[in-house]
Amino acid sequence: MTVIPHWIGGKEYPSAGERTAPVYDPALGAETKRVSLASAQDIESAISSAQKAFPTWRDLSMAKRQRILFRIRELLNERKGELAEIITSEHGKVVSDALGEISRGLEVVELATGFPHLIKGEHSENVSTGVDVHSLKAPLGVVGIISPFNFPAMVPLWFLPIAIAAGNTVILKPSEKDPSAANWLAALFTEAGLPGGVFNVLHGDKEAVDGLLEHPEVKAISFVGSTPIARYIYETAAKNGKRVQALGGAKNHMLVLPDADLDLTADAAVNAGFGSAGERCMAISVIVAVEPVADELIAKIQERVATLKIGDGRRNCDMGPLVTAQHRDKVASYIDIAEADGAKVVIDGRGIEVDGAAEGFWLGPTLIDDVPVTSKVYQDEIFGPVLSVVRVGSYEEGLELINSGAFGNGTAIFTNDGGAARRFQNEVEVGMIGINVPIPVPVAYYSFGGFKDSIFGGTKAYGLQGFNFYTREKAVTSRWLDPSHGGLNLGFPQN
Ligand code: NAD
Repeated sequence: MTVIPHWIGGKEYPSAGERTAPVYDPALGAETKRVSLASAQDIESAISSAQKAFPTWRDLSMAKRQRILFRIRELLNERKGELAEIITSEHGKVVSDALGEISRGLEVVELATGFPHLIKGEHSENVSTGVDVHSLKAPLGVVGIISPFNFPAMVPLWFLPIAIAAGNTVILKPSEKDPSAANWLAALFTEAGLPGGVFNVLHGDKEAVDGLLEHPEVKAISFVGSTPIARYIYETAAKNGKRVQALGGAKNHMLVLPDADLDLTADAAVNAGFGSAGERCMAISVIVAVEPVADELIAKIQERVATLKIGDGRRNCDMGPLVTAQHRDKVASYIDIAEADGAKVVIDGRGIEVDGAAEGFWLGPTLIDDVPVTSKVYQDEIFGPVLSVVRVGSYEEGLELINSGAFGNGTAIFTNDGGAARRFQNEVEVGMIGINVPIPVPVAYYSFGGFKDSIFGGTKAYGLQGFNFYTREKAVTSRWLDPSHGGLNLGFPQN
């Protein structure tokens, strides 16, 4: 069976160790490959390769770095179909959705091509007589990116183009569940002219992650994944003196006001609740229906779900399988909990018929009404195609519910009342807000990130915040000596 190697120094790098993990094709329910799990020696090789490449990459002219980024953009755009097939074969999401995540990643590459404008410093003349100050944004050195399974191309691309544009060298530790996209990207970046060692892929588990967190040569860590691991990454990286941004899990609410267009709202709820089988950190997982809309909205969602085709993502289906059997079973267990907690399972995804292999990791779209807010079904991030409905009596009650949650990643309001929407954007304690937009992932020139347990660290992903994260400012005070500057004065410099 194929063992996926690391990518270090511009080429495939077979592991020096023996440990591997299985990689499945979720629609077939079969192990199709294995992936190397980094040994201590592999970790050292990746870091030393990135470290060696840094000074030359940092000093390469901006124009040359820019040309490489343009070439990456062109190649990725031409060959995105190949990458989408790879993503579907390991993640399970349908091919059109895999293409969607690649286009959102491409946006960040496009932003990064304009990097010279975004990392310019400032200049002030004559801050004191004959003295000038200027600032410049210098790269950090070797930086680590640790990414989750659910966006194997987009999440690395949130960070990678900006980190390298700013002059850093990178070690990406992708999810071990769908590792091939990272190697494919590394090969493509190399083909585009990126020198060896600037972008390395280190596969592995906790051992690889801890190796990056503890190594003094790794200057910064960007992490995306579940909240408990995000918290661990934040604490451990900070303890080791690193700059860190760690984006965690989510539980995103859609607040539906009585004046909303219920047909459009039902479309949005189905798309955002069941797209990518609910394995999106910006998926809608709770509908907060301000009465009297709940019954009518549920009926419209039922009609729509009945038309969805569930099956192998390579066969023009609407929704694919979950990523692993273990994850499918965990998600399905929440449907049992909902029943035990007295909620009403309106659409039950257990035991659905699919267009694909019987052994695939299937779970159909599930809609649960009257979910008690004390239930784990309401409180936990389920990360699957399970949409809860909570009925409330007013806007205020809905807002209070959203603001009392542990997470603050995304939310959406559905209404035709501009005043209510404006009030919501002011009052809701969530980082990314949609107004009649169910998955409000910001475009590349804004930044991505939530509040509360959905993010640890002060900086969001991409946009200007991304450039700030991957650079550190130097402030230079200079004067060109003339005889009038002489003389001794041990006092503190004043202007
Ligand atoms: P995960 O936390 O299990 O894994 C993320 C990464 O951490 C992987 O590379 C994994 O190998 C590594 N990891 C796992 N356990 C570890 C440990 N004990 N020590 C060190 N490293 C460890 O997350 P996942 O299941 O791959 O992804 C789904 C989660 O990611 C969901 O919670 C989802 O909400 C979240 N997510 C958040 C965002 C966001 O922007 N906020 C975006 C995408 C996904």
